[in-house]
Amino acid sequence: MARYIFITGGVVSSLGKGLMAASLAALLQARGYRVRIRKFDPYLNVDPGTMSPYQHGEVYVTDDGAETDLDLGHYERFTGVSARQSDNVTSGRIYKTIIERERRGDYLGATVQVIPHVTDAIKAFARAETDDLDFVLCEIGGTVGDIESLPFIEAIRQLKNEVGRGNAISIHVTLVPYIAAAGELKTKPTQHSVREIAALGVQPDVIVCRCEQPLPESERAKIALFCNVPESAVIPALDAKSIYAVPLQYHGEGLDSEVLRAFGITPSSAPDLSRWEEIVERLMHPEGEVTVGVVGKYVGLQDAYKSLNEALVHGGIANRVKVNIRWIDAELFEGDDDGEIAAHLEPCHAILVPGAFGSRGAEGKIASVRFAREHNVPYFGICFGMQMACVEGARDLAGITTASSTEFGPTPEPVVGLITEWMSERGLEQRAENGDLGGTMRLGAYPAALAGNSVVGSIYGSDSISERHRHRYEVNTSYREALEKGGLVFSGMSPDGTLPEIVERPDHPWFVGVQFHPELKSKPFEPHPLFASFIAAAVKQSRLV
Ligand code: GLN
Repeated sequence: MARYIFITGGVVSSLGKGLMAASLAALLQARGYRVRIRKFDPYLNVDPGTMSPYQHGEVYVTDDGAETDLDLGHYERFTGVSARQSDNVTSGRIYKTIIERERRGDYLGATVQVIPHVTDAIKAFARAETDDLDFVLCEIGGTVGDIESLPFIEAIRQLKNEVGRGNAISIHVTLVPYIAAAGELKTKPTQHSVREIAALGVQPDVIVCRCEQPLPESERAKIALFCNVPESAVIPALDAKSIYAVPLQYHGEGLDSEVLRAFGITPSSAPDLSRWEEIVERLMHPEGEVTVGVVGKYVGLQDAYKSLNEALVHGGIANRVKVNIRWIDAELFEGDDDGEIAAHLEPCHAILVPGAFGSRGAEGKIASVRFAREHNVPYFGICFGMQMACVEGARDLAGITTASSTEFGPTPEPVVGLITEWMSERGLEQRAENGDLGGTMRLGAYPAALAGNSVVGSIYGSDSISERHRHRYEVNTSYREALEKGGLVFSGMSPDGTLPEIVERPDHPWFVGVQFHPELKSKPFEPHPLFASFIAAAVKQSRLV
């Protein structure tokens, strides 16, 4: 039977619970255990798919087409275990299921209540598909004390009791703030937070204390005394130089051995951390650096491009260089001022236009494609960035001056258009033009066939790939001939030949547009081939200028 590790947070949000969960899972994996990490989100949205990236950061998409919390991206990057729909649940999804069942009469006249119906659904979610696992880590979103998280804490309490002592533990992540005026770290918020969760029946077994200064022994002892845990179970967590240094840092503080101790397991050997040591070595001692300009919309909030940011770092790891990302607001390029574009893009060794929705900034992105093409700067267009590369090609090289995307309104030349029907493994998928927004895109993993002798074929070293999608619009194949005459080669197509997946310019140093999101599958120990190749092209470019 799988053992359960529940992770809660207290005092403030943004303590890095997700990173802690991902790091702990990686450490357990390094000891040979099979792990899976799950996220419970207490908010009422059914999934984060319709939430603004400003509110919630990026929407992470799984192979099976779920739109999930960005923490699942960390989980996958740290463990290599592909996340699934069943790894993320929200209160909204749970209530939706329960209310649908109630309407069907499935509860046979019973009063439907938080306990037992909601808590049972939460427990069932935690326990589903765990047969082949040693450890299931369940992270509870939000902060203890939030009204929405109460049913989740109650479900943990029940589950700990049901699976028995020794089969479930909980870790509470808190903040130990430094008060400069007193010159001291303060443990009181941690004491209060632990008291609050203990009052709900969940006594933490391990307490992880985020702090800006090393935690003195005296304070560690105080937390242990007041919070009812051994001193060794109080784990200090200082800020790390890189998120990929976090597993090693937690190991150094004894997190993984303390977790095993809480389960009554005596480890037989030390974990194999060579993978993480190699990554940190490459990150801390780069042999050069490159600057990549990312022309996007949510440039003020890096969580909106979390996976992209990480995939670029991975490309740097592959090439032993530091990647400096210059976040550029596409709207800066909307005016007719070419000087503005040059000022921002000339210092870049490569340009990337990431995924986006809506017309805001689109003309600025098209101008960035033009700049990259004309100046022979490596260009990587992801999803929206590929669509804009096609619009630019149509306008500037195929003479279709009014080329546009129907996403921006009616157009006489829909080089990019809405698709309302496509084939997936589940059969024919259909969408109404004015249907619901949630969960109605082409989502999840789809295969693509790559053309022989193509740039992408050699980058992947394969002629068939599978990548994750999240979009409504597609490049319109009726324009294929015109675009190809303009030098844009359709080098990746859906296996039935109907949907363009990749375009490239063989006459350019590095120009690739992809309809999918390769950043979602990149890992520090397995950088995505497209990002590794793109950064290699940036390195080449940096030697030219
Ligand atoms: N807005 C575009 C579409 O829906 C692109 C989406 C994206 O970049 N993820 O097709």
